[in-house]
Amino acid sequence: MTTLLKEELLRLARILLIFAIPGWLLHLSVQASFLGLFVYLALRLRSLHKLHHWLKTNPHEPPPELSGIWEDIAENIYRLQQNEQVAKQNLLAIIARARTSISALEEAVVLTDGQGNLEWWNSAAEKLLGFKDPIDYGKPIINLIRDPVFIRYFEHGPYNEGLKLPSWTHPNRYVQYEVTRFGHNDRVLIAYDITRLHQLEQMRKDFVANVSHELRTPLTVLSGYLETFADSEDLPPRWHRAFKQMQQQSLRMNNLVNDLLMLSRLESDVVKQEPKPISMPILLEKLRQEALAYHADKEQRIVVKVDSPLRLMGIETDLRSAFSNLITNAIKYTHARGEITVRWSHDEKYGYLSVHDNGIGIEPQHIARLTERFYRVDAARSSETGGTGLGLAIVKHVLLQHKALLNINSKPNNGSTFTCIFPREMLVD
Ligand code: ADP
Repeated sequence: MTTLLKEELLRLARILLIFAIPGWLLHLSVQASFLGLFVYLALRLRSLHKLHHWLKTNPHEPPPELSGIWEDIAENIYRLQQNEQVAKQNLLAIIARARTSISALEEAVVLTDGQGNLEWWNSAAEKLLGFKDPIDYGKPIINLIRDPVFIRYFEHGPYNEGLKLPSWTHPNRYVQYEVTRFGHNDRVLIAYDITRLHQLEQMRKDFVANVSHELRTPLTVLSGYLETFADSEDLPPRWHRAFKQMQQQSLRMNNLVNDLLMLSRLESDVVKQEPKPISMPILLEKLRQEALAYHADKEQRIVVKVDSPLRLMGIETDLRSAFSNLITNAIKYTHARGEITVRWSHDEKYGYLSVHDNGIGIEPQHIARLTERFYRVDAARSSETGGTGLGLAIVKHVLLQHKALLNINSKPNNGSTFTCIFPREMLVD
């Protein structure tokens, strides 16, 4: 039995005894015992009332004077409360510190609730995004940042890649947005100014485009003279080989310049052509004929299979270059008399343009990097085949412009399949 319980029983016994003695003297023992019990109960009820009153009115003050078990309960409650108070103070201090450090950040930090309404933001958000304290609290963020591209990104994601957009408050500036979900669909938005990075990227693009453009004219002149000399009957025989090589190299440079210009055009945000429906059987047959004409020496079989009657919405010249690059690669990296199959098909979700060959294939460690500019599995072999190293980079960019993806499936010595996967919305009857 606990000491508290023993004390309580002793208290009861004492009260009963006080009443029992006069009761015994007056021959009213039973009534006296009841009276004693009643007094004990009344005292306990008074303590309970005091405890209740303290908890209700002023629980943070020290407890009232009580006795016995109630005193112990009140002290325990008071101690727990004190501990809780200290923990709360500590937590508040941590939150205040976190807020101060987030407020000091140069990046804009914005918290939104499950409905996308503004809950909190730091001062950088006021400068960068123009939010106003306190009138914007509780407003939907998409009512304040109204760019449709941002709205689509914020509402539907995907959030794994950020979003780069021109600033809607400061003309000529660029902002990178990154959203992360937490809790129950709450979101934190981090935004920062990337104008400098954007300018540097733009300078790089302009530089490549300008250099490529400037190289075009001298190259055309050189190629023209080389062709004239190579065809000339006066050319001494020992020069024949040299001129042939010069012609080959100038052709390579020409291809390189053309590919660089095409990549620059695809990268620039300015050129936006209207997509049009493309008849795939006609396009693929044209590409087949071209490929056969250019690579007749390899005597390969090129089969076109059209398993879908749907047309593809897109920019025909760009898609044509992309598909042509895939077919040319299939021819280049497949032995003579190999077989290449070009197939157009669709299912409920996607349209597929695949180019399959039974050529040399690719080691798995190279596959993820193939669409990088100038990435080559085997530099010697690629320059032999006259490739620029830009073909698959062009394919990737063209597909990006068409909301499509490139899937590469390949095994060394066992052929490769390059598949362009188009969303179903790009396909029409
Ligand atoms: P390149 O001009 O060198 O062909 P690409 O960007 O078109 O440049 O291709 C990059 C690399 O991918 C090539 O160097 C080649 O090694 C590899 N590759 C592309 N297509 C195929 C294919 N069908 N079979 C085997 N390797 C391929």
